[in-house]
Amino acid sequence: MITKEVLDFDVVILGSGPAGFSAAIYCARGNLKTAVIDTNMFGGQPSNYLEIENYPAFPLISGYELMEKFEAHSDKFGAEKFPMQDILNINLTSQIKEIETQDKIFKSKTVIIATGAQAKKLNIKGEEEFKCRGVSYCAVCDGAFYKDKIVAVIGGGNSALEEAMYLTKFAKKVYIIHRRDTFRADKIICSRACQNNKIEFIMNAQPVEIKGSNCVENIIIKDLKTNEIKQIETQGVFPYIGCNPNTEKFNGQLEQTQEGFIETDINMQTSQKGVYAAGDVRNTPLRQVITAASDGAIAANSAVKYIETLTPAIV
Ligand code: NAP
Repeated sequence: MITKEVLDFDVVILGSGPAGFSAAIYCARGNLKTAVIDTNMFGGQPSNYLEIENYPAFPLISGYELMEKFEAHSDKFGAEKFPMQDILNINLTSQIKEIETQDKIFKSKTVIIATGAQAKKLNIKGEEEFKCRGVSYCAVCDGAFYKDKIVAVIGGGNSALEEAMYLTKFAKKVYIIHRRDTFRADKIICSRACQNNKIEFIMNAQPVEIKGSNCVENIIIKDLKTNEIKQIETQGVFPYIGCNPNTEKFNGQLEQTQEGFIETDINMQTSQKGVYAAGDVRNTPLRQVITAASDGAIAANSAVKYIETLTPAIV
């Protein structure tokens, strides 16, 4: 049997995107013994964003570079980092919280959950079958494979429109297939996409199947007004239809929405004492780098205040 290393912290932050590192900066600077744990490398989802142009004071910066700055800033105040941790168990209900990984047990007075969210699936025939063979959830990672090809982006939010524009750098044609006749994306992004002559919009349409032999060759869509079924030639399908929260390790221990997003109050307090949630993983009206960073700061401040109230026995 492996004897696991037991580590004690004031705060363990789960996730290292903008919410996680912002919380780490505030906690470590607030003199809490702080750990940042991630199941992957650091930086979270924004590390994959090619360009970010709405994070204040940075008119244009790559997501990777911005997240490197978050990490360096957190390092400066001494937050300890644990990347690539395979989390086996989390107990958030006891006064001292426990996070068990392959070879460590983290014990902590508080936990800040900043595990983010991941791409939603269309859940249609062919989606799983053609994953990595034409179906991709990351234009930045896979766009270059579609030079002079035709691709279809699904969705009508900021992600769909921005990633479609990015894909026009490679593809000869990009369809945006959206289930309504108006977009959820910001007006400025819509107007840029409309001006891009490589983009063709297919509105009021729902994908029903992805087809091909070895790789994707077609997407079958249903016109939601006429019920007509159409086949569109495409070599790539990029669903950008929103996200699901990364909460599977602690589902059931906290109050969550029907979709699984964690409920918090304005102090980022969850339904469990000493446990806070920040960023995309929580029930929030806006999922941006700036709002995640702001959540992280508030969660950290709440953790600092909570620890001050604890009895000396566990301080
Ligand atoms: P989103 O805003 O939730 O948009 C998802 C889109 O996918 C919606 O248009 C939705 O249609 C559609 N959709 C959802 N389920 C679908 C299904 N099963 N089949 C077909 N279409 C479906 O998600 P997002 O674009 O990923 O953005 C997530 C958050 O990140 C948002 O808060 C967004 O503002 C933010 N974000 C911001 C930026 C930026 O500011 N630069 C960039 C990227 C993302 P309906 O509209 O009909 O619901």
